[in-house]
Amino acid sequence: MLIPDTVRSLSVSAELVNYEDGQGSGMVAREWAASMIRRYKMSYVGPLDEGVRSELRALGPEFRPLFDMKESQLADWANETVRQLRIYPQIVTHDDLGWHIHYFEADTPLADRIRGSTAMAAMDVVQRSEARRLRVCTAEGCDNVFLDTTRNLSKIFCDPASCGNRMHGMRFRQRNRIREQQGPVQ
Ligand SMILES: [Zn+2]
Ligand SMILES: [Zn+2]
Repeated sequence: MLIPDTVRSLSVSAELVNYEDGQGSGMVAREWAASMIRRYKMSYVGPLDEGVRSELRALGPEFRPLFDMKESQLADWANETVRQLRIYPQIVTHDDLGWHIHYFEADTPLADRIRGSTAMAAMDVVQRSEARRLRVCTAEGCDNVFLDTTRNLSKIFCDPASCGNRMHGMRFRQRNRIREQQGPVQ
């Protein structure tokens, strides 16, 4: 299993990949960014101006391939990212998160903080032979990504309530169609 901080970091990465830019503005909405910071208890207190929000938006396409990568590719990406960011870890505690590791300074831009946490989480996943927990939704017409945190790696849909139900309904209708074509059972 994965440690909570790895799950937290990769859930942020998945949300950024799945973010839908309905208005095609090329940036994430301010409320969305603020809610992400709140929900994941990020310690970032800097601005959420247009520059910061377009950098966040750009993380989506950057992170998408990670959810469909071989272990060794994921390792290469993580190594390269950490090298570029010149990360050095600091163990800290804030909010009610308990001790966890920060990979950034107080003035590190938000996108680089997330990039760094994603890279370190990717290393953790590789180290634990858990890279296959990074998944793409198997539902038709959905390319959302997610982190499978189930014990037996049984999650196949990004959201069982939407994609799971939709696929279930589709299979149900297919079965009925086949039955109709075969005619009434004698
Ligand atoms: Zn923190
Ligand atoms: Zn889905």
